[in-house]
Amino acid sequence: MQYQIGQKLFFATTKTIQREVPCPVCCGKKFVIVIYGDDSAHTLDCECCKRPGYLGDDFSAGFITVYEHGECIEEITITSASISEGVTYGAIDHYRIMEKDLFLTKEGAAQRCEELKNERNKEEEQRYKTKQNARYSWAWNASYHKKCIERAHKDIAYHTKKLEVADRLKQVKGV
Ligand SMILES: [Zn+2]
Repeated sequence: MQYQIGQKLFFATTKTIQREVPCPVCCGKKFVIVIYGDDSAHTLDCECCKRPGYLGDDFSAGFITVYEHGECIEEITITSASISEGVTYGAIDHYRIMEKDLFLTKEGAAQRCEELKNERNKEEEQRYKTKQNARYSWAWNASYHKKCIERAHKDIAYHTKKLEVADRLKQVKGV
């Protein structure tokens, strides 16, 4: 245990800023158009900016929430210490601070801040890319609906024919 209760230290952390930006896939339009090889076009709700609606229905909002992490150094006074899951410290407004995020000098904390900021922004960037890639499932979505429609058309044709046969039988029998 490197530090003691009552000691004043610099805590390296990040500050998160939440922003809403236009959806990178539909650019705010809320829908996308998938064009098949046979030139047929299908309009689908944008999957990238889909979020839960108040009535339980998902809807495409046209924008997405992104998080930006900025450097943040806090001056804290240690109020408690624990060694149960690695060395951690408590302070006012902070329950568990890892030892590696605490520093005697502001300069030491600044370097760690930079690392944390880059690490967290990289994770965020990854999340953003994953969201953008959701578009690849749309082609499948479109073909699923297309197949359902084709099947429904076939069903209509089949049942219409059956009815016609029934009608013809009625005529023959004169019922
Ligand atoms: Zn969208």
